[in-house]
Amino acid sequence: MFFFFVGGVNQQVKEVLKRGAGRCIACGSAADLVEYEKVLKIFFLPVKTWPGKQPVLHCDNCNLFFPQSFAPPPPPADERRLRSITDVLTCPHCSREVDPEFRFCPFCGSAL
Ligand SMILES: [Zn+2]
Ligand SMILES: [Zn+2]
Repeated sequence: MFFFFVGGVNQQVKEVLKRGAGRCIACGSAADLVEYEKVLKIFFLPVKTWPGKQPVLHCDNCNLFFPQSFAPPPPPADERRLRSITDVLTCPHCSREVDPEFRFCPFCGSAL
């Protein structure tokens, strides 16, 4: 049986959520935070679309879609969150979070 298939699944922008939300990982120009959808095209006709799982960044310049976590982040909030984690004392023995005031771990009883 001869089977000829012209088409494929493309990603396309469904809605721009935030312009210039990040930077393109390929060309470095401003990228938009978008909601995307996947489109199945056969003979260049869209036959099926389904929404993307989560917003992604899209570069207009090179038409690239990539996850937000790939982009160079502007993360003062993230850095603050990391610092507050290191402020918590963890038991070197069982690595559970303990109060810095404690001299002995309440979970495993080892000295801190
Ligand atoms: Zn780009
Ligand atoms: Zn412990």
